[in-house]
Amino acid sequence: MSATNFTEIVKQTSKRGTNKKPVGRFAPSPTGYIHLGNVWASLLAWLSVRKQGGTMILRIEDLDPERSKPEYIKRVIEDLKWLGLDWDEGPDAPGAYGPYFQDARREIYESALNWLKDKHHVYPCFCTRKELRAASAPHREDGVYLYSEKCKSLSRPEQEEAIKAGRRHAWRIKVPDKVYGFDDLNYGWYSQNLKSDCGDFLLARTDGVHAYQLAVVVDDGLMGVDLVVRGADLIDSSPRQIFLHETLGFKPPMFGHVPLLKGEDATRLSKRHKSLDLGHLRENGCTAEKLMGLLGYKAGLLDKMEPVKADELIERFDWGKLPKEDIIILDKTLANL
Ligand code: GLU
Repeated sequence: MSATNFTEIVKQTSKRGTNKKPVGRFAPSPTGYIHLGNVWASLLAWLSVRKQGGTMILRIEDLDPERSKPEYIKRVIEDLKWLGLDWDEGPDAPGAYGPYFQDARREIYESALNWLKDKHHVYPCFCTRKELRAASAPHREDGVYLYSEKCKSLSRPEQEEAIKAGRRHAWRIKVPDKVYGFDDLNYGWYSQNLKSDCGDFLLARTDGVHAYQLAVVVDDGLMGVDLVVRGADLIDSSPRQIFLHETLGFKPPMFGHVPLLKGEDATRLSKRHKSLDLGHLRENGCTAEKLMGLLGYKAGLLDKMEPVKADELIERFDWGKLPKEDIIILDKTLANL
């Protein structure tokens, strides 16, 4: 891709044609070694695509320069191969929609951001962290804050002057007072009014790093991804992403969110859950087949927990069998694998 103008980039991008088979993706952030929760979401993304004979992409989301590490990239690629989850495009597989590393796509995100600037969809936000905390309206019980829109009212000359004066700024997109919803493949209808539930959200940080929401939509749009399967912790990003897809001129994908795997203490998996760390499991002699057996059983695809290869689950995959509640994995279960 040689263009730096977003419209040109979109024009130059190959089109997938009218093939109705889905295009899905693994989108790991290489900020740590993977745990069973990542394996679970990856397996279900892979099964949903393979069941329909679609195309699977591996896209490495090494967007955060401080937290992404080459050793984690290497390891996630190795782990997916070890698990028997393959991909058609991405690292070690050629594809016409690369680069498949977000670190190599920053110019593309910048051109999308510039396109949005030209169309007045975004505005610079000069608020400091302290101001944000003080001026934002508290929202929901989960600690999410709505941006006060303080910087939205600055005129173009005021914005330009502040930028020229070197004031640090992020970029926010103006959201409409409108409901964005979708029919989730696992959870059914899910919607948000972007103005009252989310607020004007960030597309680039003050240090210039593009936000996850921008990168993921630009990538899914340009790569022709039309089936996004991922953990339920990201379901509330989907209305924002649908809005961004539409604003950038892409057709939004279908979404399927999968319940979260949790450790014995019923909290979200993290580094504390050593027993659910894939490296730890591998070192302790757990095979890929045993893990697939456990996860296939938890997904309702097997009647009992028995070792299987990932591809033996393809024919059995069925959204209707997947649970909706979070799944607790007991240490005892892992010890007995
Ligand atoms: N890179 C994100 C993560 O690892 C996933 C992004 C997505 O699936 O949209 O949490």
